[in-house]
Parts: sequence; structure tokens; C-alpha cells
Amino acid sequence: LQKLESQTVTSIELSSLRKLATGKVREIYEVDDKTLLFVTTDRISAYDVVLTNGVPLKGAILTQLTAHWFRVLGERVPGLKAHLLSLTPPPALTHAEAEKARYRSMQVRRLKVFPIEAIVRGYITGSAWSEYQRHGTVHGLPQAPGLRQCDPFPRPVYTPSTKAEQGQHDENISPERAAEIVGEKYAARIEALALQVYEAGAAYARERGVIIADTKFEFGLDEETDDIVLIDEVMTPDSSRFWDAEHYEPGHDQDSFDKQFLRNWLTAEGLKAKEGVEMPHEIAEQTSSKYQEVFRRLTGKTLGDVLEELD
Ligand code: ATP
Ligand code: MG
Repeated sequence: LQKLESQTVTSIELSSLRKLATGKVREIYEVDDKTLLFVTTDRISAYDVVLTNGVPLKGAILTQLTAHWFRVLGERVPGLKAHLLSLTPPPALTHAEAEKARYRSMQVRRLKVFPIEAIVRGYITGSAWSEYQRHGTVHGLPQAPGLRQCDPFPRPVYTPSTKAEQGQHDENISPERAAEIVGEKYAARIEALALQVYEAGAAYARERGVIIADTKFEFGLDEETDDIVLIDEVMTPDSSRFWDAEHYEPGHDQDSFDKQFLRNWLTAEGLKAKEGVEMPHEIAEQTSSKYQEVFRRLTGKTLGDVLEELD
């Protein structure tokens, strides 16, 4: 753990495999025609911009938290299919490459990705709150009157968005528009599955003192069986708004569990949404502590314990 912690990874080159894509946080490699290596770096983004330095242990935390969710959801959502195949790096990597990829990568099933973000919101905040204040709707869907900022919705709402190309912003869309994009055949199944997974996850987190205000899922299609498969990262602090249940109070914005130190610092320094920013060492450390804390709360284990179990 100490070694992993001291070597923050913001870029990774695994020349033994072909690189298919680079996201804000991840690098995707091809293992074979059915398998991908999904590598999570320690990069962090805030206000849609990636910082030049990383957050210690972040890649391992996001990877192992997602794996934890696949285990939990497997028990709580009957019939759920997920893309995780293995937490062990593939044999094609050299020893040095496998060491770099270890703990922060998963081999996953290569699937046709549905080109929408399946967002589920349990609480009204962010862009949904802005729209509600102006129009009384969320992604075009009329909502109950009288909601305060960060109140829970009477029931969770499915609010898809487009999956924007790099550098573009995702656009909130109605479930009808999502159905045009993915096809009627799959739209209702994706919506039902997203709500089911959110509800199972939110109940589990709430028992552990964490409110999942909203979260984003991605789904893929197994073209051989016509199954819809949960892919990507799942209910991590990067894909969700996590709030500390103990300090939750509707009527104003809530601190997010993990990125708040970084957001506050960027705002105070006037660096919000600026490219090429390096955060100070102590901001990276404080952010790492928060990611580790939420990992402990949700898994009931320290990251060190989980990594030891993997070896
Ligand atoms: P960004 O985070 O830069 O806004 P992103 O979310 O696309 O974009 P990352 O999270 O860094 O970038 O990379 C993950 C990418 O891998 C996503 O584009 C996601 O759709 C894709 N992906 C996840 N799981 C699979 C899978 N099983 N098969 C194919 N693609 C996948
Ligand atoms: Mg992503």
C-alpha cells in the first residue's frame, strides 16, 4: 500500500497491448476481441478539467469500490449482469507493466456501449435543481411542487443524458429522447435496471452513513444473448454525488464527500475550469483521505485490507 501510495500515476503506457481510448481518468486497452483492460489512473477532474497531478490511491480505490459494488449488487439485484471478468492483469503484460496495472485495473467484457449516460437522481441538486427552479421540471419531466434544494424526490427519477465526445458537455435529455437514441426495445429495460441498481445501492450506502444523491451508470449490450450489462465504474465518488448522512440538511447545497477540498481550493484561487492546474500537495492528500474514508464506509474494510485479499 505504501508503495502504491507513493507512486501516483497520471499516465500509463502498456506497450504490450493496443490502446483503444483515453478518457479523463481511464485508459482502455484491448486484450482480445472479447476482452478489454480497463485501467484507472490517479487523475482527477473538477469542473470538467483534469488537474496535472494526481490523487494518491485514487485509481485503486475506484477500481476496488466498483468491484465491491458488483459483488453487493450481484446479491441484491437478481439476474444482474456486469462486465467485470477479473481483477488480475492479463498474462500478455510484462512483469513491470503488470506491476503498474495491478490493483487499478480490471479485465472486462468488451461490449457495444449504449451511447447514453443512465443517470438516476434520488435528491434534487446540480443541474436538476437549476432546471426545477426555472421550469418545475427535471430533464423535461414535471416534478412535485415545493421541493427545496437537495430534498429527496418522492421517488428516484431516471434522467438520462447524452454521452458527449471529448471536450464537449453532456446534455440532459428526456427519457423519450433517450429511447430514440438507444431504440424503444432497450430504453425501458435500461431505465428499469438503472432504477433498480440505484435503489439497491442507495439503501446499502444509507445503512453506512452515505447518501447517494445521484449517480451515473453506463450499460452495454451482449449481442449474442441480447442481455443488457452494467459496465464502466459503478457508484464511485467520481460517478456519483455522495453526501455524509450525518451532515445532510436540505435547503442549501451539500458538500460532496470527496472533491470538496479541491473544488473549494480551485474557487478560492480563481482557477475554476482553468486548464493545466497543479493542486498543492496537501489538497491532493486531503482528497485522498476523503476517497479512502468513503471506501472504508462503503466496503467496511480499509483499502490495504482489500488489496491484501487480492494477492
Ligand atoms: P470522461 O470521464 O473523460 O468524461 P469517459 O467517462 O468516457 O469520459 P473514462 O471514464 O476515463 O472516460 O473511460 C471509460 C470509457 O470506457 C467510457 O467511455 C466507457 O463508456 C467505456 N467502457 C466502460 N466499460 C466498457 C466495456 N465493458 N466495453 C466497452 N467500453 C466500455
Ligand atoms: Mg467515465
